[in-house]
Amino acid sequence: MKIAIDGPSASGKSTIARLLSQRLGIPYLETGLLYRFFGYIAYKRGTIELPPDELFKEDFKVVIDVGKTEVYWKGKRLSEELRGEEVGRYASLLGEVPAFRERMIKFFRELVGSSQVVGEGRDVGTHIFPQADYKFFITASPEERARRRYLELKERGMDVSYEDILKAIQERDYRDANRPLYPFKPAEDALIIDTTNKRVEEVLEYILSIIKE
Ligand code: C5P
Repeated sequence: MKIAIDGPSASGKSTIARLLSQRLGIPYLETGLLYRFFGYIAYKRGTIELPPDELFKEDFKVVIDVGKTEVYWKGKRLSEELRGEEVGRYASLLGEVPAFRERMIKFFRELVGSSQVVGEGRDVGTHIFPQADYKFFITASPEERARRRYLELKERGMDVSYEDILKAIQERDYRDANRPLYPFKPAEDALIIDTTNKRVEEVLEYILSIIKE
């Protein structure tokens, strides 16, 4: 069984996808983490003018398991380094490059193969696994998403402002939706869930009830 969970940043999709993977006992693929990894490399080099072939020559490894996705670089696991807004911005800029997206899609398909997976990101249901058994598109208002991201980054000890985050989210939404070749939108057969006034448990139980039908 393959399940696609897509949605904009800070919509709650990662939390829901991770919990769903745990409840079902099948691996969790957070595609955004690899976008963030390459965003981190681009950020470090100060440019996004990096050919996809060259980026994929980096010494990296992605490990997926129940409830987690890990990225290793030169043998070291990266985590907090990948979470900042600036790295997210570089990830989003790289995501506009069609040749790069094509490499990413191929990479994720090969990584998962015929295994079961809860795949989470922006294009899982539309491009990575268009044949997924279930597709959900998780969303929430920009203000609510900014509030959630603000609390998350605060908790990670980062010095951030709500206004800056809201602005970054709005810019990223705009860029993601207006990519000429791979605009970010729900798959036609995805079920859209607005989580603005819903608790995580509520959304999770709803999704489980559909899968178990
Ligand atoms: O999901 P997250 O916000 O961590 O992803 C960072 C950025 O990577 C997104 O803003 C998006 O531009 C890009 N991304 C993408 N396709 C995916 C996952 C992430 O373009 N499947």
